Amino acid sequence: MERLEVLMPEAVIQARIGELAAKINHDYAGKELLVVGILRGAFIFLADLVRRLEMPVVVDFVAVSSYGQATRSSGVVRILKDVDESVTGRQLLLVEDIVDSGLTLKYLSEYLRAKQPADLRVCTLLDKPDRRQVDIKPDYNGFTIPDHYVVGYGLDCGQHYRNLPGIYILHPDQDGGL
Ligand code: 5GP
Repeated sequence: MERLEVLMPEAVIQARIGELAAKINHDYAGKELLVVGILRGAFIFLADLVRRLEMPVVVDFVAVSSYGQATRSSGVVRILKDVDESVTGRQLLLVEDIVDSGLTLKYLSEYLRAKQPADLRVCTLLDKPDRRQVDIKPDYNGFTIPDHYVVGYGLDCGQHYRNLPGIYILHPDQDGGL
């Protein structure tokens, strides 16, 4: 059986989101913010974050899929659901669950920049800089973590575990099944 080890309890995550929101409230005071979440992993983080934002907020989502190994090398990401809102001239905050190689974020931020927002920043809950393949640095980062596969708080393994309130390291089973 695979084993879950607590990495971040719920209370720690919530406290850190409060700090991130305070920074974002300061940086965007008095401006309307278009918050774009990357499905599916960012949905819980986005929901907790926006409830702590004090400026006018509009929420939208994009959904992406990767092409497996070929995608990792090429950095090409398929957009399954585009933004519904017009991005041009808006203050856009892209919300991601975790930045790993950075390929998804690089592709998406370039794609959205081409729509000419007034400003585009990236907020991620987790950052795994050890595995970075491209030069990309989130503007707001909840936690920098070592190179482990993590689940919970929106993050999945085979679509499971997203509902866990904390974040866990997923240890593969002894037979190497995962
Ligand atoms: P990147 O393009 O930065 O390599 O990949 C980012 C995406 O890979 C994340 O949005 C997430 O969907 C997935 N990912 C990367 N690391 C992890 C991890 O440790 N756990 C889970 N559940 N997903 C991850």
